[in-house]
Amino acid sequence: MTLHDRTALVTGATQGIGLAIARCLAEAGADLVLHGIEPQAQGDAVAAELASATGRRTAYVRADLGDAQAAAGLLAAASAALAAPDILVNNAGIQHTCGIAEFPAERWDAILAVNLSAAFHTMKAAVPRMRARGWGRIVNIASVHGLVASVNKAAYLAAKHGLVGLSKGVALETAAEGITVNCICPGWTDTAIIQPQIEAVAAALGGDRQAGIRELLREKQPNLTLLPPQRIGEVAVFLCSEAAAGITGVALPVDGGWTAQ
Ligand code: NAD
Repeated sequence: MTLHDRTALVTGATQGIGLAIARCLAEAGADLVLHGIEPQAQGDAVAAELASATGRRTAYVRADLGDAQAAAGLLAAASAALAAPDILVNNAGIQHTCGIAEFPAERWDAILAVNLSAAFHTMKAAVPRMRARGWGRIVNIASVHGLVASVNKAAYLAAKHGLVGLSKGVALETAAEGITVNCICPGWTDTAIIQPQIEAVAAALGGDRQAGIRELLREKQPNLTLLPPQRIGEVAVFLCSEAAAGITGVALPVDGGWTAQ
């Protein structure tokens, strides 16, 4: 129970990588504020399930992170719902794939707001409290696309590369204050966000979903396996542990070898 007496806030925590991170942090002893965009009753049910599975205190806070004001208010809402977070995980994210000439400007704005600006707002609010305590952990879920590019992902690439740079800067600002700020950069992970890309490749191959997955992996990810979300959760727990107290400002690929190529 390395994170006993800590409170964590995880954004986008009702499903996918965010829920896996929340579960791993709770299993490591942290109390959890889960954030989501779903209605209160739905989020409360996820939080209650996590509490009964792990014995930790949990709460759910709803906010649309596409709205700068809501993002700026999230830390206060989490503090009111449970306690001021010692651990902040910026995980919420969205994707849109198409070429630059057709890329809808409103999708650009939404992706930059949710995947990048929201992390600015939550970190800005979280750092003063972490400073006062002399301890804090910020884990930002970037992507391999924060380190390298692929076609048809202009906004996602800009946001995730931006998140890596932003995290390095905040890491330097807080390095002598017991606070670490790091990114995890996942490769293909088995969640909802990649389903449209699997379906598009599958359709081009005649409709076989498994063939679509194999082709996506063959193209980019040398371990040829979709990562279970739990793999990302376990790395997040490590980055929050005392063992990782000397690690700050890194962008850690968890990508089956994608960025080694
Ligand atoms: P997901 O679609 O299951 O989860 C995304 C989460 O973000 C959801 O909980 C969703 O409700 C939340 N969200 C979306 N828009 C929001 C908004 N406006 N306000 C608040 N919350 C919002 O996908 P996931 O794979 O679990 O994604 C989690 C993170 O991991 C994202 O930042 C994603 O970019 C990143 N990532 C995923 C992969 C992958 O292959 N799955 C790879 C690299 C990085």
